[in-house]
Amino acid sequence: MAAKSIADLDLQGRRVFIRVDFNVPLTPAGGVSDATRIRASLPTITHAVERGARVVLASHLGRPKGRFKPEFSLLPVAAYLAEALGRDVVLADEPAGDGAKKVVNDLRDGGVAILENLRFAPGEEANDENFSRALATYADVYVNDAFGTAHRAHASTVGMVKYVANKGMGFLMESEAKMLGKLLGEVQRPFVAIIGGAKVADKIGLLESLLGRADTVCLGGVMANTFLCAQGANMGRSLVETSKLPIARAFLAKAETSGVQIILPRDLVVAEDAKAESGTVVSSAGVPSDQAALDIGPESVAEMAAVLSRAGTVFWNGPMGVFEAQPFAVGTIAVAKAMAQVMGGTTVVGGGDSGAAVHRAGVASSITHISTGGGASLEFIEGKKLPGLAALES
Ligand code: ADP
Ligand code: MG
Repeated sequence: MAAKSIADLDLQGRRVFIRVDFNVPLTPAGGVSDATRIRASLPTITHAVERGARVVLASHLGRPKGRFKPEFSLLPVAAYLAEALGRDVVLADEPAGDGAKKVVNDLRDGGVAILENLRFAPGEEANDENFSRALATYADVYVNDAFGTAHRAHASTVGMVKYVANKGMGFLMESEAKMLGKLLGEVQRPFVAIIGGAKVADKIGLLESLLGRADTVCLGGVMANTFLCAQGANMGRSLVETSKLPIARAFLAKAETSGVQIILPRDLVVAEDAKAESGTVVSSAGVPSDQAALDIGPESVAEMAAVLSRAGTVFWNGPMGVFEAQPFAVGTIAVAKAMAQVMGGTTVVGGGDSGAAVHRAGVASSITHISTGGGASLEFIEGKKLPGLAALES
């Protein structure tokens, strides 16, 4: 059976365990520096509170590697949340155990508690049975709203779920599944994918899956550097994932037979490094040996913008250049703006840096959907079944 929505679950007086993704960046002083992920789950939490649930929140934060480490405590998150909800949020001093049990037992209808960082327990990432069972003892109802972690089979996303009869998606999870799902079935054509960024190895699977579905794939960033290098271009000091050159060559050959148009940058902006105050435009046929490609050039921007202007569906992941440095942000910002002008079609952005770039370009409100998931959105678009979502079906 398809996964239910939290809107269809009976919550009144029940202990509702909500797996959230509160893996937020903290300030050196111990505050929350970017609360986007916390805010994204507020509708789900508020809904549960208003329905009279006893809300038990659970999240990971950073990589404490299975041990208590004070710098990874969810204390700043609990404080932020209490402020945002305008009510008390009790933080248990551990993810599971007598302390957690007491905090959960003391909850009243409409009350909110949060377990300490799930990854303080080694059983979380190991998807350990005992830890899964311990978490399940805090839940009459299980809700998963942690889309960003849905591609991981951990105790809190998969292991515990089989022990709870009533389960479903939070509103964030539901909207991610619905919006990203639009790209998996019949789409309005042409379907244009723009893939850039740095993590070539992580995105090869996505590229392969797009061969059967997209009409045009535009490449930028280190992805483009790697593909240009695979075609024999001298890339100078550019970042290239050399171990992926054979895969890049095989991909280009496959693209040719499958009839998918691949657009590589015609020109690039190069400089000694990303600290340079400005760059020089060169043909992508050759980057000078003492220079690195840090952005796509104006001709490439024009070509990709033209493709986007005719698109019916667009998926974008990965910036076109080192957009954190202002002189090399031009290509990325231009692509974001061209995407925002797509009329009547569906435009979807996945990936933390690409999402940030869309906000930086000031066009976030003109994009159909900006996913909160990095790896999870890539795997979803690739057509993989995410374990955290699959666990909610039955
Ligand atoms: P996302 O988070 O959207 O999935 P990635 O994490 O894969 O994107 O890639 C983002 C990073 O890629 C940024 O830090 C950016 O500086 C880097 N990047 C993009 N183009 C280049 C380039 N030509 N050279 C070096 N780094 C690049
Ligand atoms: Mg990133």
